[in-house]
Amino acid sequence: MSYYWLAAEKILRLIKGRISWLQKLTHTMNQDALTDKLRLSGLRPTPQRLAIGTLLFDGVNRHVTAESLYDEAKENDCKVSLATVYNTLHQFTEAGLLRQIIVDPSRAYFDTNTTSHHHFFHEDTHVLEDIPGERVSVRLDGDSPFSAKAPEGKKITDVGVIIRLSSE
Ligand SMILES: [Zn+2]
Repeated sequence: MSYYWLAAEKILRLIKGRISWLQKLTHTMNQDALTDKLRLSGLRPTPQRLAIGTLLFDGVNRHVTAESLYDEAKENDCKVSLATVYNTLHQFTEAGLLRQIIVDPSRAYFDTNTTSHHHFFHEDTHVLEDIPGERVSVRLDGDSPFSAKAPEGKKITDVGVIIRLSSE
């Protein structure tokens, strides 16, 4: 009985060792991919950019503010200042890795989804959320949908709609 127990323990230890090795390997691979991503965008992969990039680009699209990402960095023992987070977010945006969504002058969000899409802004919780689907038609007063035509000599390059929501 004890022999089997010891064998089971040995196997378990072996599996645990393999898992931590796999986690280290995945982490290294992610860091390599992020280094390439930064280099391809013309950014030097500094330790700060790699640390902030690791938090931001975890495979799921998200909306962050400089403050929310700074809080997340602190929770993850990532030692960066709010100013560094702010500057890095702007550098990533200029390099095309992020898209800036200005909800109002005091509230700038950064979106890891850089394709053209629209948003709901929850005024109660300050959460920015993607509107599913590519097309939105807005009826402000229940009449005809809102539409806009480009002025003479101009063309529309992008449309970003933010629909503000509050509780009834
Ligand atoms: Zn979005």
